[in-house]
Amino acid sequence: MELPEAFLEHMKDLLGAEYEAFLESRKSSGFRGLRVNTSKVEAEKFEEISPFPLEAIPWIPNGFYLKEDAPASRHPYYAAGLYYLQEPSAMTPAACLPVEKGDRVLDLCAAPGGKATELAARLGGTGILAANDISNSRAKGLLKNLELFGEGNILVTSENPERLVSYFTGFFDKILVDAPCSGEGMFRKDPSMVKDWLEHGPDWYGAVQRKLVEQAAQMLKPGGMLLYSTCTFSAKENEGTVAHLLVHEPEFRVCPLPQYAGFSPGRSELAPKETGGLSKDILEQLKHCVRIYPHRMKGEGHFLALLKKNGECPEQENDSGRQSKFSEKSAVSCPEWEQFSRCLGISVPKESLRLYDGKLYSLPKPLWNHSIRGLRFLRTGLYLGDAEKKRFTPSQALAMYLKKGACGTGIDFSVSDPRVIRYLKGETLDVDGMDKILPGSGWCLVSVDGFPLGWGKLVSGQLRNKYYPGWRWQHAAG
Ligand code: SAM
Repeated sequence: MELPEAFLEHMKDLLGAEYEAFLESRKSSGFRGLRVNTSKVEAEKFEEISPFPLEAIPWIPNGFYLKEDAPASRHPYYAAGLYYLQEPSAMTPAACLPVEKGDRVLDLCAAPGGKATELAARLGGTGILAANDISNSRAKGLLKNLELFGEGNILVTSENPERLVSYFTGFFDKILVDAPCSGEGMFRKDPSMVKDWLEHGPDWYGAVQRKLVEQAAQMLKPGGMLLYSTCTFSAKENEGTVAHLLVHEPEFRVCPLPQYAGFSPGRSELAPKETGGLSKDILEQLKHCVRIYPHRMKGEGHFLALLKKNGECPEQENDSGRQSKFSEKSAVSCPEWEQFSRCLGISVPKESLRLYDGKLYSLPKPLWNHSIRGLRFLRTGLYLGDAEKKRFTPSQALAMYLKKGACGTGIDFSVSDPRVIRYLKGETLDVDGMDKILPGSGWCLVSVDGFPLGWGKLVSGQLRNKYYPGWRWQHAAG
């Protein structure tokens, strides 16, 4: 597909003498990347066991380049949530938001979860990751990816951000706005984005983005940090949106980002044309933004700005927020879970347990007393399983949440064992002699090289397959 003239003109303005190099870079088809899920395995350890040749991405500690033909989405380690497949530049925003343990983090435009999965991994089971996407169908994919990664301290919503503001004003320590954009940085990898550009170009997206950053600003605590990112080159959508925030929310300042060879500074001189006169101070701040160009780095076009909201971060409220649906019900006692979890040696705080219509959840602490009544959510916390008729049926999410070696009972296949693939396809397996049954239940955790994949039920040396039907591999493709 031919590139729009207006886009090429803008690139000439932006790049000057480098324009030809940019056009030359379009002859490559781009790069594939793999990001290791550090909540399940350290990057160095994964490098040792990786089934595919890897080459480190210099600016991403847990990111690697993958060869084009590596069948990485059809491998049991993928099903075990050990990695996410992501274009290398797209790994940068989550890596640059300084998430700390215990933070309340919001990913406002999160589907399908390329950044949310990394943010959750960095929280390491503490605090909360609220991941939202306005599209309900895309939010379903987001939930799947977070569950595949084994994340339990989550809230997954599909809301218009305007509604989120009324629930979460001043609530979050860190917010990522990975905004919908005109996608110019992805034209090389996905030429179909040109069609969308022709329908909704930088003007249209610029208006959406300005609203999103204003809404995010309201949900951030004083002292909190906001990372704004796009995969476009448009100065209107990039420096223009950041300048809009700085003008309308003067308590924000742009912070310098860690520098890597190939990162280019923000183009402050291109923003004023679109936003009207900007102060010298704002023009200086815009230089702290980072641009990623495909002719300077092995990655697609991206833009990032890290902003800090002035003020001191108040102490975390002592669970004294509005009365919530959850606190009204308060913690539940669930004998079926108690017995099951005792057998497995799993522990979640008793106060975190909530039971709805027979489904048992462990809620992240920041939600214990915070009302989300009326929000459209797909998941609150870790879905543990179903308790009914004195029986507990564990969920797929619980299997993924369990860490390697955390459960001494179950069946562990070596990755070279053909039964792993058969398990992922939903088949019943002969496992005579290798069973380690959970006393009194028959349930067993099935894993590959120690990394959990799902559940099974042992009956007379046979493993009845309890791998979540919606995740099973298709027979023909495997
Ligand atoms: N962060 C995602 C990742 O790394 O996988 C990619 C996000 S994509 C660039 C932008 C997302 O914003 C899309 O999934 C789209 O559905 C969502 N979106 C569009 N308009 C939105 C809005 N007003 N509020 C929230 N999300 C929105």
